[in-house]
Amino acid sequence: MARYSDAVCRLCRRESMKLFLKGDRCFSPKCSIDRRTYPPGQHGQGRARFSDFGVQLREKQKVKRMYGLLEKQFARTMKRAARMKGRAGENLLILLERRLDNVVYRMGFATSRAEARQLVKHGHFLVNGRKATIPSITVRAGAKVSVREKSRTVTRIAGALDALESRSIPQWLEVDKEDFTGSVKALPEREDITMPIQEQLIVELYSR
Ligand code: SF4
Repeated sequence: MARYSDAVCRLCRRESMKLFLKGDRCFSPKCSIDRRTYPPGQHGQGRARFSDFGVQLREKQKVKRMYGLLEKQFARTMKRAARMKGRAGENLLILLERRLDNVVYRMGFATSRAEARQLVKHGHFLVNGRKATIPSITVRAGAKVSVREKSRTVTRIAGALDALESRSIPQWLEVDKEDFTGSVKALPEREDITMPIQEQLIVELYSR
């Protein structure tokens, strides 16, 4: 499975905003975007002018990077969103939120989506009591996500749960920290996604 393996902080600098890709570091003074506010690369400090296409492209890249997807997976999710009832842009964001790796991250079992993705792949989680190792699974309303009995001592999971107080759990999820369990109370709505995203630009990009 292909994955992005270059420096991740440069992705935030490219999009000129925090994408929270590195867990605790993102909340510390070490965050690169706080230290170097300009985009990476030789021409990073030059004046940036974007065409309409450029603006749409940047919006798509931002969301894609935020959720840790590569182009093919993202385009596939967009296609699926367009086939669903309702607005394609909103459907896209909701589908991304419902990915198992995102749910694990949002529930506080991991400090970043990348970490959540790895923990899922390594088989540390159960969905409705069954082992789930595919990070892209779309969870349904009522699903129960729990840490496997054997995995409750995994340092990264325990550490992430310890730091949970400093993060807020979205209202569509519920977490029982003591029981290493979380549940999806309802499907997320557009208002639950608080990052500044203009999903309409992404839809426009893909309808070119
Ligand atoms: Fe982005 Fe986090 Fe790196 Fe800051 S520390 S630039 S928020 S990945």
